[in-house]
Amino acid sequence: MRQKTALIPTLRTVSEAEMVSHQLLLRAGYMRQVAAGVYNFLPLGQRVLQKIIEIVREEMNRTGAQELLMPALNPAELWQESGRYDTYGPELVKLQDRHGRDFILGPTHEETITALVRGEINTYKKLPMTLYQIQTKFRDEKRPRSGLLRGREFIMKDAYSFHADRECLDQTYEDIYQAYVNIFTRLGLNFRAVEADAGAIGGKGTHEFMVLSDAGEDTIAICEACDYAANIEMAEVVFQGQDNGQASVPAMEKVSTPGKRTIEEVSTFLGLPTHQFIKSLLFIVDEEPVLVLVCGDHEVNEVKVKNLFDATVCELADEETVRRIAGVPAGFVGPIGLKEQVKVIADQAVQVVIDAVVGANEVDAHLVHVQPGRDFQVDQYADLRIIQEGDVCPRCGGAIQFQRGIEVGHVFKLGTKYSQAMNANFLDASGKEQPFIMGCYGIGISRLVAAIIEQHHDENGIIWPVNVAPFAVHLIAVNMKNEDQAKIAEGLYEELKRAGMEVLFDDRLERAGVKFKDADLLGIPVRITVGAKASEGIVEIKLRRSGESAELAHEDVLKELP
Ligand code: ATP
Ligand code: MG
Ligand code: MG
Ligand code: MG
Repeated sequence: MRQKTALIPTLRTVSEAEMVSHQLLLRAGYMRQVAAGVYNFLPLGQRVLQKIIEIVREEMNRTGAQELLMPALNPAELWQESGRYDTYGPELVKLQDRHGRDFILGPTHEETITALVRGEINTYKKLPMTLYQIQTKFRDEKRPRSGLLRGREFIMKDAYSFHADRECLDQTYEDIYQAYVNIFTRLGLNFRAVEADAGAIGGKGTHEFMVLSDAGEDTIAICEACDYAANIEMAEVVFQGQDNGQASVPAMEKVSTPGKRTIEEVSTFLGLPTHQFIKSLLFIVDEEPVLVLVCGDHEVNEVKVKNLFDATVCELADEETVRRIAGVPAGFVGPIGLKEQVKVIADQAVQVVIDAVVGANEVDAHLVHVQPGRDFQVDQYADLRIIQEGDVCPRCGGAIQFQRGIEVGHVFKLGTKYSQAMNANFLDASGKEQPFIMGCYGIGISRLVAAIIEQHHDENGIIWPVNVAPFAVHLIAVNMKNEDQAKIAEGLYEELKRAGMEVLFDDRLERAGVKFKDADLLGIPVRITVGAKASEGIVEIKLRRSGESAELAHEDVLKELP
């Protein structure tokens, strides 16, 4: 590509951007803002996006996943079927067509894909099946100020898997987890897979892939000694276990209350069926451990607390307080994000214990001053301890480090949440109707562009990892008016292109200083400069990352290129 006619509008300074990646993408002419959180990708930005997409596509295809494409515009009915039309919150973009029919712009596509598979697949013989797309998503984010890190319109790779049984889901989950490791490694990222929202859904069910960077919004706990790493979004939850009724605990205080209640009684009290109890959770409230029961479907990353909101069912808090703490929109009747929900439950924990869950040394009876392990069996969820700064690793006792991370991927065992809600079933080997068991797997494609820059830049500009660079070589003719330089540069441009290399050719009539500054800013890995020594047939080759440079005869360039 010839720079003279290319749309690469570089800027010396930008004022509006806080994040380094946001500043550099604007300054280097990779993108321009259209509205808050909505961007034009200029030619260079588009090339980087396509590089990332190709890597993601290759690795997804290798797992056996099939690419399709779903629409951004989706009928509200689908989201009403799943219940999310009313519960997703203000991030959901809603609109109407000319007939007044309700639509949404998809922030994610569980509903659309579940409806598709419901209509097309009815036997276990077609399972497992993983479908994915690379497509534009819409989320009306509250603070779309970080450039591509948090757009209101952004590009995601989202995959959905369908299975006849859990083991099969576990296998696909592992395959895609590995594909994600491959993808982020090929993208040149320093990343960690962390246990996500581990507190309430049980450990092996969801992981986030975090790019380690101070620009990240998430805090993650990483053990220096073993492979433990977790998102600590929910610092309140410190332990999950099950009352084994075995405790023999001296000096254990009973809470003075209306009396002991069994789980059945509590569930009646909360208006929830018993099977929806996940676990008892232990919270630290006022430095005291307090147990509460959390209700919900343990296969999903959400806990249904709808009855907690209904002051007439249980008087845990007035509706207004709950909505304020949880940020729940008026009219809320279903699942909300786990983080918010846990905050609500932590706030109400004491009240729950006093009102509903008291007793000692009996199954389904719960206590204050409880010690995990002593009073509770450490079950398979025990390693999901969510830790606080200064803690030691819950797995190995090693030192825990806190780091900031950018969430670039998320894998998730959905179970039957959507298939049940939307009545998506298949016939199993014995001819019995079963709901599909599902997983979902996202990657923030456009967020990755920014995340890569956060890890790969210096004070002069971007330093692209080779695999995602918009061009492999930046060829610069210092003075296009000089005949020797122009001739050698033009010759090299043709030769490199013929050899299949992607070359950006700076053939502009700009000053040398401008050209070099722009080259550093753009961040293309290899720079070939044709300057004063062109008269002797000598050119310079320089690596953007190390700054290493060497002079060589222009005929040798092709064979010397890394
Ligand atoms: P976040 O916690 O950053 O809001 P999320 O957990 O809501 O992200 P998911 O629903 O897990 O996001 O979506 C899958 C992936 O899509 C995320 O891991 C992230 O990489 C990307 N993503 C989510 N929201 C945005 C956004 N507003 N802009 C760009 N990428 C996004
Ligand atoms: Mg989000
Ligand atoms: Mg998240
Ligand atoms: Mg996520």
